Amino acid sequence: MNTIKLYQKDVYLKKFHGQIEQILREKEGDILILDQTAFFPEGGGQPWDRGTLAGFAVEKVWEDGDQIFHQIPGGSELKEGDVIEGVLDWTARFRNMQRHCGEHILSGIFYQECGGVNRGFHMGEEYMTIDISLEEDPDCTILTPEILQKVEALANQAIWANLPVITRTFESREEADALPMRKQLALEEDITIVCVGSLENPADCVACCGTHPSTSGQVGLIKIYKMENYKGMFRIYFDAGADALSDYQHKHQLVDQLNKRYSASTGDLMDKILAQEEKNKAVRTRLHQLRQVVIREKTEETATRLRDGHTLTVMEFEGLDLEDLTQLGRPLTDEIHGLLALICREASTLLFFSNGKKADCGKLVRETASIYNGKGGGNATHARVILPKPENIDIYLDLLEKHLRP
Ligand SMILES: [Zn+2]
Repeated sequence: MNTIKLYQKDVYLKKFHGQIEQILREKEGDILILDQTAFFPEGGGQPWDRGTLAGFAVEKVWEDGDQIFHQIPGGSELKEGDVIEGVLDWTARFRNMQRHCGEHILSGIFYQECGGVNRGFHMGEEYMTIDISLEEDPDCTILTPEILQKVEALANQAIWANLPVITRTFESREEADALPMRKQLALEEDITIVCVGSLENPADCVACCGTHPSTSGQVGLIKIYKMENYKGMFRIYFDAGADALSDYQHKHQLVDQLNKRYSASTGDLMDKILAQEEKNKAVRTRLHQLRQVVIREKTEETATRLRDGHTLTVMEFEGLDLEDLTQLGRPLTDEIHGLLALICREASTLLFFSNGKKADCGKLVRETASIYNGKGGGNATHARVILPKPENIDIYLDLLEKHLRP
């Protein structure tokens, strides 16, 4: 038996009763086939409806042939012949209707304005995308920000005009072909066409089996987020209805926080951010210059110590990081007779330098690092060892001293 699709007769039906015609006890759950249902199965990029059947959460709805299947958790005591109540999660369904109809309107306007054909649709949790292929209008070969702005404005004007959204069904393709559709029909019979607005000047007109609000005004809002090039097409990220409003609320909150942080108003926020960036850049330049002065000083101090000719020279400079210490040690390698160790306590790291003749830094690290669970490596003149904790550094150096003793 075919399932009667109640959502086709009344898209606003939130509660209904249906008789169980068949129950399939599968391992993923109980699968119910009813004589009629208001649950929309997945289709046309629109997700299946959520809600309950006989109080059980509906986990999945799909269509196969002319039957609609509802999956609920397994182990129910329902039996064939039972008449049960179905309740739709109306918030979820209306959200789908708003978003899906928003996609219709936006696609219709892209088609009218620049001959853009919607070649792909995705309804995600965070946003929707359509892939627009510019193939019908030789004068329009690129979507500029100006065109996007115009399309967005026209799509919202179609919402404010509160146009009727009418679904028409046709037995054959010949009858349907008379309608001003933006896409060629792929079906030959049992065709459902959805038009937003009048047939003389529709905001959209296309074959579709999804659920739609009765007027365009219920879509509420359409907002384009961004555009990317995609396989020779233009991928448009956007949203509609309550989701577009949530996005606006979220972004408004963000701008509000930034305004407070920068003591700005939305009008001069960007100027204040740019001014702060300039200041940061100047501070970074000054810091770099001062670091170079300190590194040069410390290099000289280390060079003086190296003249003592010890087997192991250990130096520690507060405030210098690994990059600074590497810059400090590198030019000294020719002056090192044994081994130079530079401590970077904040990184639990020791940097080694040598002239590569008396001591091989890399070999030394490979032989000793693992004793204190250290890791590291390097070559003959420069190597590093990273120890689990800064406290390990001094014990490790004691060990090294013994290791180097002739
Ligand atoms: Zn549709």
